[in-house]
Amino acid sequence: MANRNAHILEEMTWPEVKAALPDLKVVVLPIGSTEQHGPNTSFSTDTGRADGFAKRVAARMYPQALAVPPIGYGISYHHMRFPGSATLKPETFMAVVYEIVESYTKHGLRTFLIVNGHGGNVPALQLVTMKLRYELGVKIAYLSPTTVAREEVEAGKSSPLLGHACENEASQLLYLGHERMVNSDALAPGEIRQPQYPHAGFQGRIQIPQYFDEVTANGALGDARGASWEYGRSTVEAAVERVAEFLEAFIADEE
Ligand SMILES: [Zn+2]
Repeated sequence: MANRNAHILEEMTWPEVKAALPDLKVVVLPIGSTEQHGPNTSFSTDTGRADGFAKRVAARMYPQALAVPPIGYGISYHHMRFPGSATLKPETFMAVVYEIVESYTKHGLRTFLIVNGHGGNVPALQLVTMKLRYELGVKIAYLSPTTVAREEVEAGKSSPLLGHACENEASQLLYLGHERMVNSDALAPGEIRQPQYPHAGFQGRIQIPQYFDEVTANGALGDARGASWEYGRSTVEAAVERVAEFLEAFIADEE
């Protein structure tokens, strides 16, 4: 096992997992999407960010955490007008998350951290984590690295709007070693459309489910031209530290 990442399941054998189990306290499950990210970053942007972050958390928490393979599809109805995007139905998404968590409980693991890279998954994650806690009795939390690092994300941005295919997402990809997912030669600002109705729509006070091309013509928000490895480092490292602080307390609390 010497030169291998002992707590990344994709790189482990079952005897290695068996040997790791006595120390393992938390399973880290990354979840992303397969959806367009404008002309700026690839379909695996959210999955790559979540997966890279989950592996860093597992390394930071070694030997107490196990990073398991990512779920690479999410709830992306709103991106379906852009070619290449794919979506799960919320029922399917919740069943996949539920059954993966349930599988690891069969090996005696009871504490879970979901690293979510896609905002469209949040309503379903809220429901499925509720079911998992109250039906299966597991301890479970979910987070977005960007939300955990809110101050650093705000401090380092160069354009007022963030949120999708933006400088924050591109910077996290660069820092996490996913530069192949960033179309660095052709980064472009979002082509934001005027709201169709007063007080409503994207970030409005009145919510409407909207296709993404109703919000932005090229599928991007913000301005990815401000992306940098350093900005990615500041947000990712701040979030890893906060998540580690949280996990130390979450693990120690024997429910
Ligand atoms: Zn994204």
